[in-house]
Amino acid sequence: MYREHTRVITIGDRKIGGGNPILIQSMTNTKTEDVEATVKQIHDLEAAGCDIIRSTVPTPEAARALGEIKKQIHIPIVADIHFDYRMAIAAIENGADKIRINPGNIGSRDRVRAVVDKAGEYNIPIRVGVNSGSLEKDIIEKYGRVTAEGLVESALDKVHMIEEMGFNDLVVSIKSSDVLMCVKAHELLAPLCPYPLHVGITEAGTVFSGNIKSALGLGLILHQGIGDTIRVSLTGDPVNEIASARQILRTLGLRKGGIEVVSCPTCGRTSIDLIGLANEVEKLAAGFDHLNIKVAVMGCVVNGPGEAKEADIGIAGGKGVGLLIKHGEVVKKVPEADLLPVLREELINWPDQ
Ligand code: SF4
Repeated sequence: MYREHTRVITIGDRKIGGGNPILIQSMTNTKTEDVEATVKQIHDLEAAGCDIIRSTVPTPEAARALGEIKKQIHIPIVADIHFDYRMAIAAIENGADKIRINPGNIGSRDRVRAVVDKAGEYNIPIRVGVNSGSLEKDIIEKYGRVTAEGLVESALDKVHMIEEMGFNDLVVSIKSSDVLMCVKAHELLAPLCPYPLHVGITEAGTVFSGNIKSALGLGLILHQGIGDTIRVSLTGDPVNEIASARQILRTLGLRKGGIEVVSCPTCGRTSIDLIGLANEVEKLAAGFDHLNIKVAVMGCVVNGPGEAKEADIGIAGGKGVGLLIKHGEVVKKVPEADLLPVLREELINWPDQ
C-alpha cells in the first residue's frame, strides 16, 4: 500500500497521506470573483460530501475574493494557479489552504522560489500538478510523444527543484485524459514519490463518459494502494462529481458509511415502475449517510426476495402489492404505493451502527 507510506500533509483542518482516509475534492466553476455564487456552490458541494475545494485564482480580485469565500465555508480551499506567480502569492496572503501550481508554466526558477518561500512562510502545502496537455517540449521530444514516462519525469523534475529550495510540504498530481496512460504514470510514480498523490482523470468528459473513465481510471489506481485525494472531473454541475467519487470509494471498500443501493436490471417479470422507484430510493438514501447498509430495490415478488439476500433491507414490487424484505426474508406485504414511505420509516428507525 503506497498510500500508507506517503508523508502526512495538512490542508486546513484535514490531513492526507500516511494512510489517512482518501479525501474527495472538487473544483468550483463559478467566477471566483463572485463571492456569493462561489460560496453557494461550495455549500452545495459540502452538503454532498466534498472534503476539499479548489477554485481558480486568475486575477487579484479573485485572490481577494478567496479570502472572503474562506470565511464563509467549512472545508479547506485550494487556489488553482496558472502562469502568474503573483496570483499564487496573493492567494496565499489571502488565506489559501493549499496552492496548486504547475511550475512548468509559472516561469523562471526565481518565480517558483518566490511562491515556495511564501508557502513556507504561511505554512501551507503546494500541489505540483503536471498535465499531459502541458508537458514540456524537451520531454515530448525525448520520448517521441506524450508518455507516462514523460509525465513522471516532468513531475519528479519539479518535485526535485522544489525540494532543492528546502521545501517538502508537497502533494503531487499527474493527469491525463488517456486513462491507461494515467494508470501507468501512477504505477511508475508511486514507488518513487514520498508525497501524497492527488488522482484524477482530466478532461474525462460529460457525466456519462466522465463517470465511466473516472471509475475505471481511479479504480485501477486506487485499488493498487495509490492515491490520497481524488477528483472525478465531469463536464457538468460539480455536485455530481461528489456522488461519483463517493460511489467509487465505497465500491472499492475505501470508504465506509452511507447507504449502498442495489437494484435489479428489470425484466419481463417487472410489473411496477422500478426505474422510477430505484431513483427515488437513491435520493432517499442520500439522506442517511450515518447508516452503513445495503438497500435492495427489486422488480418482482417472485425472485426479488432471493436476489436481495445480501442486502440488509429491500423492497420488491408486485402488481398492486409489494414486499418489505430483510436479509432475504419477507417481513411484510405492503400496498405498492406505500413501498417508499415504509422504506423511509424503516431507515429512520434503523439502529445506528
Ligand atoms: S428481481 Fe424479478 S424483475 Fe428483477 S430482474 Fe430479477 S426476476 Fe426480473
